[in-house]
This record gives sequence, C-alpha cells and structure tokens, in this order.
Amino acid sequence: MDIEKIRLDFPILHTTVNGKPLVYFDNGATTQKPLAVTRAIETYYNTYNSNVHRGVHTLSQKATMAYEEARTTVAGFINAQPEELIFTKGTTDAINLLAYTFGKKFIKEGDEIIISAMEHHSNIVPWQLCCEERKAVLKVVPINENGELLMDEFERMLSDKTKLVAITYVSNTMGTINPVRDIIRLAHARKVPVMLDAAQAVQHIAVDVKELDVDFMAFSGHKLYGPTGIGALYGKLSWLEQLPPYQGGGDMIKTVSFDKTVYADPPLRFEAGTPNIAGAIGMAAGVKYIIGIGLDKIATTERILTEYALERLSSIDGLRLIGMAEHRGPTFSFVIGNSHPTDVGELLDQQGIAVRTGHHCTQPLMDRYCIPGTARASLSFYNTPEEIERLVDGINKAMKLLKR
Ligand code: PMP
Repeated sequence: MDIEKIRLDFPILHTTVNGKPLVYFDNGATTQKPLAVTRAIETYYNTYNSNVHRGVHTLSQKATMAYEEARTTVAGFINAQPEELIFTKGTTDAINLLAYTFGKKFIKEGDEIIISAMEHHSNIVPWQLCCEERKAVLKVVPINENGELLMDEFERMLSDKTKLVAITYVSNTMGTINPVRDIIRLAHARKVPVMLDAAQAVQHIAVDVKELDVDFMAFSGHKLYGPTGIGALYGKLSWLEQLPPYQGGGDMIKTVSFDKTVYADPPLRFEAGTPNIAGAIGMAAGVKYIIGIGLDKIATTERILTEYALERLSSIDGLRLIGMAEHRGPTFSFVIGNSHPTDVGELLDQQGIAVRTGHHCTQPLMDRYCIPGTARASLSFYNTPEEIERLVDGINKAMKLLKR
C-alpha cells in the first residue's frame, strides 16, 4: 500500500495541531474523510439537491437514484440485498430501532436478552429500556482479564428464555475481536437470533452477512470514512418483514386513511421522514473508497501496525495495556501508573497527538478493571510506524512531566 499517496486523499492528515504535525489516533471515535467523500456530498448539494421518493422532476429522480444506489453500495459492501439495509442516523439509532421494534414484537415478560461485559453504552441502554418496558431480563456475558468473552459462560446462559443475543463484533475500548462465528452458531442451535454491533468491525474486517448468517447488524458511516449522522441496520428480510414500524410519518407507508394505514415494505417501513440523503451518498462514497483500496490490503496494513504498536507500547515501563486479547484490531487502551487519563491525553495533545480519554462509553467495562478510564489510541490503515514512534515519545515525555 502506498501510504504517502493514500494520505494525500485526506487533507486533514497534513495539518498541524499545537504547532506539531497532527498524529490522528482517534479513529475509533471517528475516521477522517477522504476527498472522495467530501466531494460526493458537495456535488449532491451543488448539482442535484432535491428530496427523494416523491418527485417526478429530474432533480428528484436523480437524488432518488443516488440515494437508492447508495443503499445498494452499502448493502453490497456487507453482501446484503438492498431491501435488507435500513439507513439510520448511526449505530446507536440502528440498535434503538431494533430494540424498540423487535422488543415490541418478540419480547415478553421473563424473556432474556444476552449482551456482554464489553458493550458500548449504545448496545446496553436500548436493551435496558426494552427489558424495563417488556419486564424482560438482561444477561451479561463476562470477560477474562485479557478482555476476551468467556464463551463457556455464554453457552451456559443460552436457554429457552433467550430471545436475542446482541454483542459487539470488535470492542471499541480494547480492540478485542469476538468469536462471532461461534456466537452465531451456538445461538442458532437454540433458534436465537443474533445482532452484531459492527461499529468497530466493518472498517477493519471484510464482513459478509450471508456467510456469517447473522440476523441483524448495526454500523456507522462516520467510522467508515463517511460522514456523521448516517449509518445502517442490516436485517435478514425474513426478520424485517415481521417487525412493526419504529417511527410513523411520510415515506414509510403504502396508503394512509383515518381508518387504516398500510405500512411500506422493508426497508422504507423503517425510514420515516426525509432521510439523510447527503449522508447516504457520502457513506456510499466512503464504502467505495475502501473497496477501491481493498479490505484485504487494509487488514494486512493494520495488522502490521497493530503488531508494531503492541511491541512498542509494551516496552514502556509503567504503562499498562487494558485488554490483551490475542485476536485483536488496532485499538489500544492504556493507563499510566496513577495518572488520570485526561492528563495523559492533554499532554499528548500538546504534542499534536490525538487520542481519546475516559470511559469510551463502556463504563461497566471500566468497572470490570476497577479503573475510571483509559487513554485510547485507535489506528487506521493511513497511520504509519513513524506516528507510532511519535506516540511512544509523547507518552515518555508525558510520563516524565506527570512524575514531577
Ligand atoms: N458501538 C460501538 C462498538 C462503538 O464504538 C460506537 C461508537 N463509539 C457505537 C456503538 C455508537 O456509534 P454511533 O455513536 O456512531 O451511533
């Protein structure tokens, strides 16, 4: 991969922060956007901005075509059919949609939903709301010290009461890649559907929903080199057809009268109101950009960066990595002695290095490790070994200052 050439696609990577060349290691929060994405959005607004689905005029038809093509592109990226892909505001919105509609149809008093100890709050709270509403029970698969799921416990938890397993593919805090194939196999053996939170997966791993046989999957455009405010929920058509609407409004109906409203088929049944047209077009541009590079090349580049970062970070005396799973992506959480992660983050920022600090929306995971938070460096294929060296130097400098 010609990294220097690729980096030219991302103007922000050539800027400075606090007088230093930017090292952007906050890709888990959001990735930077290539020109292909910003240009696709600009072209839409400058040349064919119009509302979709209900216009006969040329611009509206053009916008409708681009919006539906975007659906086909994003669906194709995960090997789904376009009608199985609902555009949402992001992963959070996708999971809330599923929790509401699946909960309403399938969850009853005493039923159980299984999540894990490493979930992002957006794969915890919607299920808590659902369980509260339906008087159901939320079960949590524990993890070991390395940040890996205890699969025996998971297997033991599955029962006739289990109605859904909702688990993250990749941990946003520790980078752990979960054994999703085993999870799906074990759940399906009990006829339990599985939803994967793939917010941290689809940008790193080639995901084929058909091959995985996963029932639902949520992901965000902005972590996939696309814009914010757009994401997707994949659902097997056989499931989506059974689910009631999430919100009511325009675009999600076939006919409306005061006596009876007939809802549209999926996916439009779940897309009430004017959608984020520019967002969908931008998300598709991000997906096309990734396809253009190749997820296999991205995975190889990121594997090399991961190994290098692990080796270099492990060599720092006094730095504790949180979560040391063998099967992992390019995301590293660490704590330094008794220092507060915010101080570490600020000292790195002064050196132009962007990392995230805090609980990363995984407070129960922080409780599991008895820590208030971590500093997290999350890498992308456009990062370099030189930038990892800048991080290591930055951490060493920060440690000296923190010791004073
Ligand atoms: N799940 C995981 C694993 C995440 O990393 C994130 C984003 N940090 C989310 C869910 C929520 O995504 P969004 O904020 O884009 O809705």
